[in-house]
Amino acid sequence: MVLKKQHQAPKDVTIAGCAGFCGGVAIAVKGAEKILAENEVFCIGDIIHNSFVIDALKKKGLKTVSSPKDIPPGAHMIIRAHGLPLEEIASLKKKCCVIHDFTCPILKKIHRDITQLKRKGYEIAIVGNPLHAEVKAFVSRSGDKVSVVAKAHDAEALPYAARRAIICQSTISDELFVGLAAKAISRSARTLVIDTICSEAKKRRKEAKALAKKSKMVIIVGDSKSSNTMILSDIVGKHCAVALISSADEIKKNKIRYPLAIVSGASSPRGLVLDIARKVC
Ligand code: SF4
Repeated sequence: MVLKKQHQAPKDVTIAGCAGFCGGVAIAVKGAEKILAENEVFCIGDIIHNSFVIDALKKKGLKTVSSPKDIPPGAHMIIRAHGLPLEEIASLKKKCCVIHDFTCPILKKIHRDITQLKRKGYEIAIVGNPLHAEVKAFVSRSGDKVSVVAKAHDAEALPYAARRAIICQSTISDELFVGLAAKAISRSARTLVIDTICSEAKKRRKEAKALAKKSKMVIIVGDSKSSNTMILSDIVGKHCAVALISSADEIKKNKIRYPLAIVSGASSPRGLVLDIARKVC
């Protein structure tokens, strides 16, 4: 997504230049809308972590299911921005489904890097949440010796390896990655640490922190299911009051404090951010 200039509204409200969909989410949502104009489409898991957007797509015919078993043979299906495990893609291909792959290009690059690292003989350790869809997609590409490190104990209990590459879920916090990678390093003779946190997520965090420092309150537009939204909330909460909301109806005008800034998670459309801004200006 192109970084737009911050917009200053009359009532001391600043809208973050980064607010709105990230590049990967924009590709998935626009792609889904295009296909839905002609076909019913299935998606394994929520297409993005934003119920406002999901509800709008459901009205257009999007069906969210939990496994390839729930998709009829030959049906159109979307691979969401987080990607899918290889086994699930293989099972969809067997059923002759029409697969529309909207895996975020940044995550596809990480998939290619994992394949290369495996070829070079590295065991892969992924710092992140093992239940997150993105991490499951990484694991499926990482071979039999893959490990997921979610907490200190996991890092300390890693089997000893001759060569290990440590990567991470693209939306975890820098502190978590650095802390757990530092603990995991001693569990291999040769270790390659690769920071795979998404650059767009980093840009949003930097902007949110700068805005929080000069505001009395920051509204974060996003869903509590979104890990990048919750990290923004942690960052902002260290400097000023935070209101996490997912729709304009949730605004409590008497609780708003100025100067106010509005930022958003990667799964919130800019149109929704502007609707919210109109209510508080
Ligand atoms: S946050 Fe980054 S990695 Fe995740 S979908 Fe958006 S652009 Fe891709």
